[in-house]
Amino acid sequence: MTIGKINSIQSLGALDGPGIRFVVFMQGCNLRCGCCHNPETWALEGGDEYTPVAILEKVKRFKSYFGSKGGITVSGGEPLLQADFVYELFSLCHDEGINTCIDTSGSVLNDKVIKALSVTDRVLLDIKYDNDEDYLKFVGCSIEKPIAFLKSLNKMKIPTTIRNVVIPSLNDNEDSIEYLNGLANQFGCIDKIELLPFKKICKVKYDDMKLHFKFDHINEPNKELMQKLNSKIIL
Ligand code: SF4
Repeated sequence: MTIGKINSIQSLGALDGPGIRFVVFMQGCNLRCGCCHNPETWALEGGDEYTPVAILEKVKRFKSYFGSKGGITVSGGEPLLQADFVYELFSLCHDEGINTCIDTSGSVLNDKVIKALSVTDRVLLDIKYDNDEDYLKFVGCSIEKPIAFLKSLNKMKIPTTIRNVVIPSLNDNEDSIEYLNGLANQFGCIDKIELLPFKKICKVKYDDMKLHFKFDHINEPNKELMQKLNSKIIL
């Protein structure tokens, strides 16, 4: 059985997918987003080792809290760097009637990922910017990667939530919202767009790890701005 490297587990989360969810933060990320609030998940090495069955046993203890919408979410880091593990874990969850969700940057796409997606009930896909330049500069991959990923989700008809962190001076504008709305019009699999305010509370983690927080100079968006942008979202 595949071993998964896991950074941390949140038994009952309400922010990462529908309903109440058991959230598994996988260890390792291939990107280095300027707005990342989980730098502790970056290193490909380390993390606690679990088998899919060991995680399933934990998830099952919280099943009564999930209701009709909740379930398990794998986040990270980039969970699809460990696609075999995700496939095995989600297959076991489906056998138990537990809803499955992946929170991903959409930057990894291969046969193993497609297999993991085949047992995924929802994808939370981060779309960070509306152009390649910002993607290359502030994420570390081309915008073509998440768009190709989105095409696969659409083909597989996997319900998709687009998530966008609103970062003042970079993407807090109407063009950016129009871009997200345009994706929703183009790809039928998208049934929700979520705008999340950029947060700086993670700065302490960067300091503890002696890492430079690239977006330290950027302010958090205020409520009015979030309301204004939210009012322009079509889904
Ligand atoms: S993909 Fe996610 S975990 Fe990786 S650097 Fe970006 S925000 Fe952080």
